[in-house]
Parts: sequence; C-alpha cells; structure tokens
Amino acid sequence: MGRIELDQLTRRFGATTAVDRVSLHIEDGDFVALLGPSGCGKTTLLRMIAGLLPPSEGRILVDDEDVTEVPPRRRDLAMVFQSYALYPHLTVASNIGFPLRVRRRSKAEIADRVSEVAEQLELGALLRRRPKELSGGQRQRVALGRALVRDPKAFLMDEPLSNLDAKLRTATRAELAALHRRLGSTFVYVTHDQVEAMTMATRIALLNAGRLEQVGTPAEVYDEPASVFVAGFLGSPPMNLLPAHVRTDEGRVLVTAAGVDVPLWTGETPEQDVTLGIRPEHLTFAPLTEEPGARPLLRGTVCTIENLGSEEIAFCAVGDTTVAVRGARPLGVVEGETVALTARQERVHLFDAGSGRRLV
Ligand code: ATP
Repeated sequence: MGRIELDQLTRRFGATTAVDRVSLHIEDGDFVALLGPSGCGKTTLLRMIAGLLPPSEGRILVDDEDVTEVPPRRRDLAMVFQSYALYPHLTVASNIGFPLRVRRRSKAEIADRVSEVAEQLELGALLRRRPKELSGGQRQRVALGRALVRDPKAFLMDEPLSNLDAKLRTATRAELAALHRRLGSTFVYVTHDQVEAMTMATRIALLNAGRLEQVGTPAEVYDEPASVFVAGFLGSPPMNLLPAHVRTDEGRVLVTAAGVDVPLWTGETPEQDVTLGIRPEHLTFAPLTEEPGARPLLRGTVCTIENLGSEEIAFCAVGDTTVAVRGARPLGVVEGETVALTARQERVHLFDAGSGRRLV
C-alpha cells in the first residue's frame, strides 16, 4: 500500500511561506504530478513528504500512520533525485544493490533482487559498468532501480527528466508511465513541465505561490480549469483570457468582450466584470458578415502566423489583447487580415474578475 495524506501542510522560510496549508489525498497507485511555475513550492512539498524537511505546521500520513515526526529512512518512501546521486566508483549492480547492503541483507538476496530490478528496467547488459560509462537516460534508470530495489510504498521524484535532451525525455516519459502501470505503485512527481504532467500523471496537483489551485485528472484540469491561473498555465499557447462584462437581458446572458456583444446562453447571471477564457484550439474563423446562428464572438486583426508543421497558430490583436487561434494547417488567413472569431458555447469559460475562480 502507498496512500499518502497531506493535512494542512505548511512550510515557512523566514518571511516566505513556501507551502501554504496544502491538503491532498494521494491514493495507492496514483501517479500525482506536483505541477507549477518555478518557486511555487513543489520541491519543498516533496521534501516534506520524504522527511528531508520538517513542516512548520500540518501532518503527513502514510497508510493512515502519522509520519510527520518519522525520519526519512523509516518512512519507506524512495526519493529519486534530479542529479541521480549515483556513486561514481560503484558499478550499476552495486549502485542498485546499495540500499539493501545498508540494510544488511544477504549477498544472495541482494543478487536476486538486483537482477530482478535490472530486468524490469532493462539494465541487465549494463550491470558491470560505472555511472560515467552510461548515457543520461541509463543513469536515470539506475537511479530508479536503486529506488525500486527496496520495494518502497511510494516513489518521490523531483524533475527526474530535466537532465535529458528533448528526444530522450520523450522516450523516458513513455517508459516511466509504462513502469508506473506495471508496478502499480504510488508515484509523486515534481515537474514544471505541463507536458510531462499531462502525459504521465493520473492526477495533477497544480500549485501557485505555495497554495493548491486545483487537483484533478489531466482532462479535468485542462477542460475545466478552476481558476484563471490554471487556465493560463496549461496549454500551448495557454487559454486566451480577455477582460469582459456579463449581464442578463430578458433571460439571455450577454457577454461583452472587446466591444462585441454576444448572447451566450439563457439563465440568470448577476451583472459583473469577468474574464472570458477560450482555448486557442476552440476558436475558429467565422465569416465577417453576420449570419444567423454564426454570430462572431470576437473581431480582430491577424498579426503573425506561426507554422508548427502540422498545425498553425494565428496571433490576432483583439482590442488590447493578443488572441491565439490554433488549428490544422493552413488556417486560411493571412497576416494583416481582419477576422471574426467564434467558438462553441460550451467551450467558452467565464472567470470571476476579482477572485479568478471559474464561474462557467
Ligand atoms: P523550482 O521549480 O524552481 O525548483 P519549486 O516550485 O520547487 O521551484 P521551491 O524550491 O519549493 O519551489 O521553493 C518555494 C519557495 O521557497 C521559493 O520562494 C524559494 O525561494 C523558497 N525556499 C526554498 N527553499 C528555501 C530555503 N532553504 N531557504 C529559504 N527559502 C527557501
């Protein structure tokens, strides 16, 4: 089992609150990505779970046992570091077997377990090499092997792929996700890379300035962002966010953004300032002439077009905001063109202008 529960966890460094009252349930077998921008508290949170840093307040429970005061060695959690932290003078086999030697297991048991782990990670042919004779990806697998050999309750990883080049990172991403499925163990994974989080995690915990903004499956946080922060963090480019005003007129909700007044849906919404959010891939170009049922949501001018190969992104000036439109290439517009943009109603999000929380 590897169930981890964080209860109102807080860590201060002098006047800085690095982690601020974070409560999070990590189920056995979950792959949770702690995601957020630099300095949001991801590493601090992971180090507290590992027992490398005492919390200022709050509790950590592993399988219902309060481990807040328990030293790292006795938590039965394995930390995989960014730098791999391999012993340069030891072979791959000795590096992997090291945690068992420290625990004074028999030579035979260590040999058995090392070969089992080497097979799982396809390291069998490399067991006699030393770390300097390995590629970055292989070193990373050895570091994982050293964690795996102890059969821990959970794996804690801090940006384990950040030292790999782009191609190897993509390959290792798939390997890690497959390994997680095979082992069925709990993974807690720190990253600032949304693609890593989206592709590997079963759940994403998004942090902003030490606070938990949202926890959900990759699809939930992407499709139903809880706040402007989440909407603006995920996606490439991220969700377009525009200042807008909403009011109800005879049962129809009208949203005014960049001068265009659009009936969105029926229902009561209190008149208020909002932030209108639409993902670049949900915007399409509409005819400039107004046709019934195809009313444009926004109007603007195409500034630049980026060619991504299979897709294009058109950046359009809409009022004071730049709005990105992403779609299959060619999008069919040219730079300098005046365009109208539309989106399906269910793809349009509204956020409270003050708190940033999602209304619709
Ligand atoms: P990155 O992605 O850049 O590693 P992070 O999200 O992991 O960032 P943390 O390293 O957890 O962020 O840092 C969170 C905040 O706490 C930052 O403002 C950082 O400067 C501060 N902090 C972290 N460790 C210490 C420390 N030992 N002493 C003082 N401040 C610290």
